[in-house]
Amino acid sequence: MFFLFGTNKSKLKHKYFLKNCKCPVCGQLNTLDGSVTGRYFHLFFIPLFPAGKEKSAKCSHCNSTINEKSFTPEMKQEFMIASAENPNKTPFWHGCGCLAIVLLVLVILLSAAYVWFKHRHDPPKAEDYRKVAFNADEKKLDDDSLVPLDSISVDLKNCLDNRFNDVLEKDKFRYFCKINQDRVLVLLKIEDIKKIKADDRHKLIPIIEKCLNNIDGLAGKEVYIGVEGKWNMILTSSPMKEDLDGSFADEDILYPFYDTSKTVQMDSVIIKSKRK
Ligand SMILES: [Zn+2]
Repeated sequence: MFFLFGTNKSKLKHKYFLKNCKCPVCGQLNTLDGSVTGRYFHLFFIPLFPAGKEKSAKCSHCNSTINEKSFTPEMKQEFMIASAENPNKTPFWHGCGCLAIVLLVLVILLSAAYVWFKHRHDPPKAEDYRKVAFNADEKKLDDDSLVPLDSISVDLKNCLDNRFNDVLEKDKFRYFCKINQDRVLVLLKIEDIKKIKADDRHKLIPIIEKCLNNIDGLAGKEVYIGVEGKWNMILTSSPMKEDLDGSFADEDILYPFYDTSKTVQMDSVIIKSKRK
């Protein structure tokens, strides 16, 4: 690959007349002008940083260019004296690319520091309180300290145990139920859900609903159901929306259960359907 990185050079400002020196090529006296060339690294022709200097002399009589290696001792001395009086400094622009990079890094660092400083006392972003509540309840599915189960869970378990006796193992079920005003939330974890094909898993929801219908005290309540597999929600169902994907269900559907307002606002629910 052709990559435009390398060195370039430019003649520096001051020239030095090498008086009383003979040209090593043609032997003429007082015909030599010394000069300094500055080298620099470049990237895409933008100078990055200096890469040293080279001395040379040019004879006005024979037009030869003599590089530093071929200087006579007199030329070396004369060059030294002349350049001490009038030194050729490395021009600023030979290192401007590097300087620009340093400045850019500084600007980025300062901006980051400024943003951090400005926002250091900001409160953390408000999270949907319903999501927080849901996540806390979802965790309880794995909490063994919650045994014995609440009364709804016990009734539901009795009902489901009879239904799935030969398909799923009873002791692989975990239950969590909660009531909020006129709503009931049922979370179920079925660790060996893989025994049922993903396409068939949606059939669990009507079975659970049927069981709930027969439980005292739940009549007329809005039912929110979440069924979890080993790792994640696989089915969610609410009065407004359901996600019966069977593999990855959207838990947002269950958030309205936690709404503090009396009426469940449908348009406050963000629903991303994962079904194709
Ligand atoms: Zn010459």
